[in-house]
Amino acid sequence: MKLNKFLQNSIKNLAQNLISSGVAKETADCVVIGAGVVGIAVARELSLNYGRNVLVIDSGPTFGTGISSRNSQVVHAGIYYPPNSLKARFCVRGRRLLYDYCKEHGIPHKQIGKLIVATRNEEVPKLSYLLNRGNENGVEGLKMMEASEAMAIEPQLQCIRALWSPTSGIIDTHSLMLSQLGEAESHGTTFCYNNTVIGAHLEGNQIHLHISETESFINRDQQHPDIILVPKLVVNSAGLSSAAVARCFSGINPRVIPSYYYARGCYFSLSNTRVPPFKHLIYPIPEDGGLGVGQFTLDLDGQVKFGPDVEWLGPIDDVSSLQNKFDYTVCGDRAKKFYPEIRKYYPLLKDDSLQPGYSGIRPKISGPGEGFADFIIQGEECHGIPGLVNLFGIESPGLTSSMAIAEHVATKLSV
Ligand SMILES: Cc1cc2nc3c(=O)[nH]c(=O)nc-3n(C[C@H](O)[C@H](O)[C@H](O)COP(=O)(O)OP(=O)(O)OC[C@H]3O[C@@H](n4cnc5c(N)ncnc54)[C@H](O)[C@@H]3O)c2cc1C
Repeated sequence: MKLNKFLQNSIKNLAQNLISSGVAKETADCVVIGAGVVGIAVARELSLNYGRNVLVIDSGPTFGTGISSRNSQVVHAGIYYPPNSLKARFCVRGRRLLYDYCKEHGIPHKQIGKLIVATRNEEVPKLSYLLNRGNENGVEGLKMMEASEAMAIEPQLQCIRALWSPTSGIIDTHSLMLSQLGEAESHGTTFCYNNTVIGAHLEGNQIHLHISETESFINRDQQHPDIILVPKLVVNSAGLSSAAVARCFSGINPRVIPSYYYARGCYFSLSNTRVPPFKHLIYPIPEDGGLGVGQFTLDLDGQVKFGPDVEWLGPIDDVSSLQNKFDYTVCGDRAKKFYPEIRKYYPLLKDDSLQPGYSGIRPKISGPGEGFADFIIQGEECHGIPGLVNLFGIESPGLTSSMAIAEHVATKLSV
């Protein structure tokens, strides 16, 4: 048997071995696994609007160390996704909730708008397609622009046509998480860091979560939980590891757990630029797996970045996933692919001006060339376990959708 398989099986078998081994057991009302932007929004919703007593467990040293701190921080309008998909519905609703929340709580954000640009004739029909799709999804204010109109508002831009999306914007994700975390805490939520959910078993219908201190889990040869929690409700919002977490639950039919494909997205910053070349977000036509290699985005402090691109990674075994052994290396060589893509719409981009920035990894549930896959939000009707909701494939637009996902999860739990 391969070592990885062996480790996975040994985690699954913990349940049987540990029941009689005297590990401390505690009851809890509701456990959220993962303190990313989605887990925090869920904890806030459950504690603030439903009066639940929530415990959020995160394997990292603090909140938001996963995908939520490695993204573009763009509030998406909801243009790209098939009508009625969860991504389309949650992006449009989530954006409205997010802007309202930001205004109410003073979260730094700017609705700067976005231009999706066609730089070749054959791309023009794709822009029309996106316009129709965005309209179907209920995105407000979309407008097709001739090249002259787009280039008048962005003088350094070169394109032959553009789709203007006035509701797209940027947000300070860290401030958002901090604010929602504070609200959740003041409504009784407890955040517990440096602890990893390493498995679970069922006794009757009751979920027993196996939790280990992250450091011990990474360093010990034998994987034992330090505590077993018995909550009434569990939300698996473990981002890149949510499929690995679900596979460690003995009692879930493995066939309902999707395979994950990981796609790294690297960003490059622009050196020696005091003034950003553009005032609005500039996106090329989307590609397989992402929204186009050379996307131009801005931070709220005016920092420019291009990306993310799409680099499909090999599989990672469940134990390494739970131990967060993801590779975020940004290889400087990837800039070679960025220059020609960016110069299609920004011909003034200087040689050697791109500097490696950071990267994020997408938890995708469709592989290369497989096309669109929706968010998966699974309740009892799918996996048969009362009180458990699994969130799978929460890639972009997960940040924009976070508050709408939280509403949906709370409803699904019928609390
Ligand atoms: C490159 C990139 C760019 C993106 N850009 C945008 C954008 O511009 N706009 C947008 O709307 N969306 C964007 N997204 C998507 C968005 O960032 C994510 O959908 C969102 O951050 C997911 O949040 P999350 O809480 O589900 O996951 P995470 O933030 O990863 O949180 C999961 C948490 O679970 C914890 N965890 C994992 N395993 C365990 C375990 N076993 N026990 C305990 N804790 C565990 C982790 O430590 C982590 O903190 C982007 C994504 C990527 C990768």
